[in-house]
Amino acid sequence: MKILVAGAGGFIGHHLVKRLKADGNWVCGVDLKLPEFEDSSADQFIIGDLRDPRVCSQAVVPELDEVYQLAADMGGAGYVFTGCHDAAIMHNSALINLNMAEACRLNGVPRIFYSSSACIYPQYNQMDPDNPVCSEDSAYPAQPDSEYGWEKLFSERLYLAYHRNWGLEVRIARLHNIFGPLGTWQGGREKAPAALCRKAAQACDGGTIEIWGDGMQTRTFLYIDECVEGILRLMRSDFSGPVNIGSSEMVSIKQLAEMVIEISGKKLSLKFVPGPQGVRGRCSDNRLIKARLGWASSQSLAQGLALTYLWIQQQVVESMGADLGAAKANPGL
Ligand code: NAD
Repeated sequence: MKILVAGAGGFIGHHLVKRLKADGNWVCGVDLKLPEFEDSSADQFIIGDLRDPRVCSQAVVPELDEVYQLAADMGGAGYVFTGCHDAAIMHNSALINLNMAEACRLNGVPRIFYSSSACIYPQYNQMDPDNPVCSEDSAYPAQPDSEYGWEKLFSERLYLAYHRNWGLEVRIARLHNIFGPLGTWQGGREKAPAALCRKAAQACDGGTIEIWGDGMQTRTFLYIDECVEGILRLMRSDFSGPVNIGSSEMVSIKQLAEMVIEISGKKLSLKFVPGPQGVRGRCSDNRLIKARLGWASSQSLAQGLALTYLWIQQQVVESMGADLGAAKANPGL
């Protein structure tokens, strides 16, 4: 097949391109940037801004069999929940989706995948960390706790409207906290698993790592390979969604940190500090995907975390080496 992956320079997009290539497809990637940590295996890579409809017209061509739309202005809690980036997130991601939906319609693209998010679920159903409600039908009445979630909900509706009015085949997944190697691990857009792995890898034995909030907020985390598998199964099915793609293994952020510490092999203590946290509880409800696609994630959180920790530890060591090299080259700095 001929496939376009929008957001191919990002974490999930890059892994998806790799898998699509391994499966024997011809793949074009488009993004503002190339993947940060590894060369893209895409056959063609367009560097461009999808807020510009001309870039969408260049990337979305009639020969395509599938389009995966993953491009978005996004990040972890430190980016999405502070309120500082609300206007940019809504403006940038809505423009990308408006342009992509229209380009797919104009070019008769047979099928598009859209990456929505667990962040669309109403805040009022996620106050109890032990019993969050995130079944697909609980999305309305809508009350996402972030503008990021509102934009995702708007774009879900946009693609569904294109399906109803223009016959565009859409597949929509609500992804729940995807993690793994080759993802952002520093700089402010990283998410909890990567941030905790980095903090543990940087800490000295006997030291302390910081956690935002009281650590009792709960989440489920899905390893990247399983996310890609879920996306492909949904895309090749006759089910439009929206459907959750996530794990069922719910842990508190404190438990997540303790797992990372154990993997690091260090003796580290936790310090709870104020910081953006999002909702108190969130758990992927996986009954619908199981019923419609017969699929569920199977890998344990500990397995995925061990692979992620190893990769981030390597990044930390390499960046320390680079800092040391720069200091030696410029001793006056
Ligand atoms: P990411 O930030 O690593 O990837 C997004 C990519 O979009 C980036 O490479 C970025 O450069 C690109 N992009 C942003 N603005 C663009 C523009 N104007 N033109 C072209 N490219 C642009 O994020 P990710 O974790 O790979 O997430 C991929 C998608 O899945 C996003 O839509 C995200 O909202 C969604 N999602 C991710 C998670 C998760 O846990 N990672 C959870 C729910 C939903």
